[in-house]
Amino acid sequence: MTVLHDVVNPATEELVASVPSLSLEEVDDAIARSRRAFGTWRHVSPGDRARLLRRFSALVDEHLEELAQLEVRNAGHTIGNARWEAGNVRDVLAYYSGAPERLLGHQIPVAGGLDVTFHEPLGVVGVIVPWNFPMPIAGWGFAPALAAGNTVVLKPAELTPLTAVRIAELGLEAGLPEDVFQVLTGKGSIVGERFVTHPDVAKVVFTGSTEVGSHVAEGCARQVKPVTLELGGKSANVVFADADLAKAAATAPYAVFDNAGQDCCARSRILVQRSVMDDFLAMLETAVLGVRVEDPTLDTSEMGPLISAGHRDSVAAYITESTNVVIRGSVPEGPGFWYPATVVVPSTEDDPLMQEETFGPIVAVMPFDDEADAVRLTNATPYGLSGSIWTRDVGRAIRVSRGIEAGNLSVNSHSSVRYWTPFGGFKKSGLGRELGPDALHAFTEVKNVFISTEG
Ligand code: NAP
Ligand code: MG
Repeated sequence: MTVLHDVVNPATEELVASVPSLSLEEVDDAIARSRRAFGTWRHVSPGDRARLLRRFSALVDEHLEELAQLEVRNAGHTIGNARWEAGNVRDVLAYYSGAPERLLGHQIPVAGGLDVTFHEPLGVVGVIVPWNFPMPIAGWGFAPALAAGNTVVLKPAELTPLTAVRIAELGLEAGLPEDVFQVLTGKGSIVGERFVTHPDVAKVVFTGSTEVGSHVAEGCARQVKPVTLELGGKSANVVFADADLAKAAATAPYAVFDNAGQDCCARSRILVQRSVMDDFLAMLETAVLGVRVEDPTLDTSEMGPLISAGHRDSVAAYITESTNVVIRGSVPEGPGFWYPATVVVPSTEDDPLMQEETFGPIVAVMPFDDEADAVRLTNATPYGLSGSIWTRDVGRAIRVSRGIEAGNLSVNSHSSVRYWTPFGGFKKSGLGRELGPDALHAFTEVKNVFISTEG
């Protein structure tokens, strides 16, 4: 009998759908079918594979509004964000649809023959997705994996499976052969764990917490199975006294409260040069109180609820009686897992709010003295995913960018994800890179072939 799992709308607490929680046997059966499909898919000509992916991208675009509305109901994302997220899946598919015909190898000069390299697909790729950005993170895994000739089994988070299930249907409608791209709903401890332990899953792409990620890496190590990890972050927004302070303050809330802070790239520490700390905090207050926290179905909504009651409890636990809260926004009344935008000023840099990822709308502000102190403080966490640097001094922008141990930095802005540039973390934020021109190589093995020309 199929076990069902309820999916709840975090803004209304209403039941949205019930989806199957797959058993180990069902997962093994899907992996076996994926392995069989690989035998065919890898031999589909590059031009045909490209055409199928372009058609898949076009179908996602045609269903963009449907997918976005579904994500608003399932994850409580603002409709503006959800449209961007569905558009990102379309764009990532379109970008990697250019890859099959461009998966070039080398011809290397050798004596007595011809030496060439091939980028061979790995086989079945297992993609494990968290609940915070269900659509983009799925796409960053399945699109390049399929383009490189692999088949994909994808496990969405238990809380947010609906858009992935729909996207897989669109893939079939686009003409992907049966079993080339399967979405397997269910528990991490069953479905996700099986991707790690099953010998026929050739690679695991995991995005989620550092805790589960290191467990996944341990399991993959036992099988010598390649793994890409995109994990947590405690990124810094570093504001120097010479910066455009008004712009830095006006944009800072969106760099951390977007998606209610449930963003691995959230700039959840703001480090401000001491001489402008008071001015900055005054401007930050206006900006934070201006963030529109409201019904995520409204076009004007800038922040929705947290994903679940349990997650709200864990975020709320970071604020205790002794926490120095300096700014606090408001939330709508009534149902939903809401939590207000909150700004704190901790007294020490080893405060949990300076070290740990809350994954909620809480930001810690702390002063620094000079450039060296800014770099030291920025690097004083176990993470290294992203960050922002605000200064008008170009030389300083470059020096600080080189000094910060993080994979994705932006100067005088907060952008960190473009599908055509690489994304990933230093230190405990992860292993490997996604997106950009090189991501395909995370889904292929290099094979060298020497052909003798001696008669
Ligand atoms: P999580 O608990 O680590 O779960 C992530 C995924 O792993 C879910 O699909 C989960 O399934 C699955 N999983 C759980 N246990 C597993 C196991 N033993 N083996 C294999 N898979 C397993 O993370 P989350 O709570 O969903 O997401 C929040 C975290 O993700 C944050 O720490 C955040 O920073 C991180 N994140 C990082 C990035 C990045 O790119 N660096 C992006 C987004 C999120 P279930 O849903 O069934 O538990
Ligand atoms: Mg979890």
